[in-house]
Amino acid sequence: METLLDKHWHHIEESEAFQLLGTSFEKGLDQFEAEQRLKHFGENVITGKRAKTGLERFLLQFHQPLVYILIAAGLVTAYLGEWVDSLVILAVVFVNSIVGYIQESKAVRALDSLSSSMSTEATVFRAGKPLKIPTSQIVPGDVVILRSGDKVPADLRIVSLKELRIDESTLTGESLPVDKAANSLLPETVLAERKNMAYAGTLVSFGQGRGIVVATGNKTEIGRISGLIDSADELETPLTQKITRFSHMLLIAILVLASASFVLGLLRNEPVNEIFMAAVALAVGAIPEGLPAAVTIILALGVSRMAARKAIIRKLPAVETLGGTTVICSDKTGTLTENQMTVQSVLSGGLSYSITGTGYGFEGSVKSNDDHAGDNKSLDECFRAGLLCNDANIHHKDGRSGVEGDPTEGALIVSARKYGLHPDKEHAEFKRIDELPFESEWQYMATLHEKDGSRVVYLKGAVEKVLECCMDSMLASGETSSLNMEEIVEAQRGMASNGLRVLAFARKDLPADGELVRTDACMGMTFVGLQGMIDPPREEAKAAIAACQHAGVKVKMITGDHALTAEAIGLRLGLRGGDCSIGKDCPVMTGSEIAELNDSELIEKVPGIPVFARVSPEQKLRLVMALQKNGEVCAMTGDGVNDAPALKQADIGVAMGITGTEVAKEAADMVLTDDNFATIEAAVEEGRGVFANLVKFIAWTLPTNAGEGLVILAAILFGATLPILPVQILWINMTTAACLGMMLAFEPKEPGIMDRPPRNPSRSILDKVILRRIGIVSALLLVCAFGLFKWELLNGASIEKARTMAVNVFVVIEAFYLFNARSFSRSPFELGFTSNMWVIGGFASMMILQTLFTYTPVMNRLFASAPVDFMDWVKIIVCGVTVYGVVEYDKKRTASDV
Ligand code: ATP
Repeated sequence: METLLDKHWHHIEESEAFQLLGTSFEKGLDQFEAEQRLKHFGENVITGKRAKTGLERFLLQFHQPLVYILIAAGLVTAYLGEWVDSLVILAVVFVNSIVGYIQESKAVRALDSLSSSMSTEATVFRAGKPLKIPTSQIVPGDVVILRSGDKVPADLRIVSLKELRIDESTLTGESLPVDKAANSLLPETVLAERKNMAYAGTLVSFGQGRGIVVATGNKTEIGRISGLIDSADELETPLTQKITRFSHMLLIAILVLASASFVLGLLRNEPVNEIFMAAVALAVGAIPEGLPAAVTIILALGVSRMAARKAIIRKLPAVETLGGTTVICSDKTGTLTENQMTVQSVLSGGLSYSITGTGYGFEGSVKSNDDHAGDNKSLDECFRAGLLCNDANIHHKDGRSGVEGDPTEGALIVSARKYGLHPDKEHAEFKRIDELPFESEWQYMATLHEKDGSRVVYLKGAVEKVLECCMDSMLASGETSSLNMEEIVEAQRGMASNGLRVLAFARKDLPADGELVRTDACMGMTFVGLQGMIDPPREEAKAAIAACQHAGVKVKMITGDHALTAEAIGLRLGLRGGDCSIGKDCPVMTGSEIAELNDSELIEKVPGIPVFARVSPEQKLRLVMALQKNGEVCAMTGDGVNDAPALKQADIGVAMGITGTEVAKEAADMVLTDDNFATIEAAVEEGRGVFANLVKFIAWTLPTNAGEGLVILAAILFGATLPILPVQILWINMTTAACLGMMLAFEPKEPGIMDRPPRNPSRSILDKVILRRIGIVSALLLVCAFGLFKWELLNGASIEKARTMAVNVFVVIEAFYLFNARSFSRSPFELGFTSNMWVIGGFASMMILQTLFTYTPVMNRLFASAPVDFMDWVKIIVCGVTVYGVVEYDKKRTASDV
């Protein structure tokens, strides 16, 4: 069997392929055989993907400018004979790398577990039945069904197809989708031209087909080359990049300053040891090297929090962007509405009917609104078309009914059942022999059936589209007459303005050898009726829209549905427009109106319109771009294959987890596991929370660096002994970041986070208030640390004790300032001291560490620290409390600017 997999499958005839792989077109493999093959070939997953190994990740922790400086410092200190210092510095480098490695692994794990939670499924034939299975379970010989929007799950030899087009850009770089064909090819045909093959990882952009699996996992073409591709490092975001750039710039500035102070020291004839240590201390203290890593972790934590609220983040930068979202463009069906369709109104043969009952249960009946009790042949055909031109299934489990497949189609099965048509009987009588599946861009679906040697086409779709295909309509008697457009359009308007989603149905007879081809499927049809179904707005969507509007986030509905239906639903959901100048029935703009506008007109009009109807996926792309040109940060939802460009263009592409195609998910930054608009609002809220915590962390951590830098600079300028040594700076930076700063990542969202307008993306993260606060705390750190250090020395304390005081001042001030940093405007009393227990825990553990640092002989030896007495602690704590008080006072003064 193994050797089989290396064949030129594109050269092999279909029948031979079936034979070689021991499978068949109708039946596929049986379950037992599939299990055996799974054991033999293994799961269909690519294991060779070049993710960085643990060791590589660990070693990369050393690849940072700060670490280079530290290693150099460690070696020079050793050379200078300061063995303890040298060992401590190198040990710190090592510990720092371990901490960095653990933190990064956590972030990677959080992201990995999310990507695996989004495992994909594919439909295969097993023992003659179509079965949805996880793609990992696919084995060679499986017969896979491909539909537009699917990701090809393994390498396939295509055996049947209908207008199948596949986007192979991931594999061949060819950006246009390739038309596929099933006939065999010459052995030397190159990969990009093997039209009868579909390769794993490529995307079906149109049509449908079936293929036999010829290779899985690492044996697939993509599996073979993915060993060469480095898995994308997705841990970088715009913010971490900005911080890294900032750190690098700062590094250069600090190196220049450090060298200058070195030269200054030499000119002053100070001991080389000391000036060298001062230069190292300056570099180590002033560079916030740990910041990018901390930011990544805070973002990764945000990812987990969003996942808990049903929003799966696929790309880390999305967490950051979400908080700044200014407009959300959402689909209607299923996202803003329940997607629980029930047909309520029917027009057929010139008569109108109402249908009772709700949901997918078959209880209910069809009643004429015109006291017409007699036969209506057109009505028979209207329900039959709905039932047969249909790929959904209704299932009843535990007394509840549900739909498998498209809910619109589910509703049509239910209405046909209520009318008295039985699905099994109808399908047996009218054998389906071909189909043109529904694609948003065509807005219809057609199926070809055979009954007693004659053929009939059933068509269903958007009313305008179906009417375009019709030449006449059926009367209740079964005879045909000319189309009464006015009556049909009037009926449609009546249903749509009540928020009903309306589909039209048509049929035509074909000769016994008639075929279904796209070019003439939509010609010469006979109209048989309309069915209007309710799809109630989601209650939670209404509340979420209100919350978004309150938070300054505009919401726009962009739907493929009819303008009147969209408008009615939009009104119920509370969608509001600005000043609108298109038509009277505004604020709805239709796809055809969009088509008439050029780009600059669209840019001008788009802000005032809350509802866009009959929009094609291509127009979604234009809308996103127009919104972005207006300076908006735009989230856009999508589910279909053609939505991918708009999802990619949007600042946050949002795909539907349940109804979305693989193509849409692949293009998206975020996937909603419940397809619900309210989840987007929740994600925006979480995004704001995460961003706020990031800023809090930055505002908390920068004063440490600035303060340390200033203390060292002051010492150099005044020619004083260093108040803190490089190893002590390392101690402060490492312990405070881990025990104190990281606790801000767990800070709950402040109340009122959705009462503010979105963050202006062009505004700097550190605004006036934050910069001021960083300045105040840095200055206080300088004054307190330097002041106490000098005081101790003047009072005859040892240099070790004076330095220990300085270190403790830094740590204690940072610990008190942590409580301030929990909010830029609220005091810890308003927030509740216990509302973030992590901060309390961090504070306590920091104090324990500091006690060890101050009193244990081993730490005294390693870090050149010395015990301090009770009164010294009082002084240190007074410093902490002072900083806390000053910052709280500043909060009160600046509360209105935050
Ligand atoms: P949204 O874009 O908000 O999800 P939608 O589902 O109405 O709304 P599309 O899926 O693009 O958007 O559908 C456009 C139109 O095509 C619908 O209004 C309906 O008239 C028709 N339609 C939808 N589903 C089907 C289907 N399965 N078969 C035939 N026609 C359909």
